[in-house]
Amino acid sequence: MSNCPCGSELTYQQCCSPLHQGTLTATNAHQLMKSRYCAFVVADIDYLVITHSPQTRHNISHQSIKQWNSQCHWLGLDVRSFTEQGSNAQVEFIAWYKQDGEIHYHHEHSTFSQQPIDSLLAERLTEKESLPTHAWYYVDATYPEQKIPMPKRNDICICGSNKKFKKCCGS
Ligand SMILES: [Zn+2]
Ligand SMILES: [Zn+2]
Repeated sequence: MSNCPCGSELTYQQCCSPLHQGTLTATNAHQLMKSRYCAFVVADIDYLVITHSPQTRHNISHQSIKQWNSQCHWLGLDVRSFTEQGSNAQVEFIAWYKQDGEIHYHHEHSTFSQQPIDSLLAERLTEKESLPTHAWYYVDATYPEQKIPMPKRNDICICGSNKKFKKCCGS
């Protein structure tokens, strides 16, 4: 069994799938962030929309996420930091992907907040009898200007395979 695309040691079935299926909600922003990355990998665009804060959801479109995502081949996620203060949290991450044969990264400081659960997310959850009152949502992001060095040929690969980059995603 291969590991979940979010980079955990668990399988997808044990890790992000229950969140995508609506049998569980994320217990914190770190878990939500990983499950959102994983939703890009498995092209679950609905999950990205419903876990986007109702206050900023109008800024995104299902169609444009779907179109952009269809051109990306996701390689790996590197969560750099996670801080939480009450109902607000920040996650810094780098997500590696390949597009048109080139390696790219997406470096982001994302903001998350815990809010009363809205109808769109509630609809997706399977346990209607015991809906949580609150849930974590992705709010928005800033993009650091700092350049991230590209992996070198002999580095351990960014995808977590433990192979050398040149023998893996860089080949
Ligand atoms: Zn996962
Ligand atoms: Zn690789």
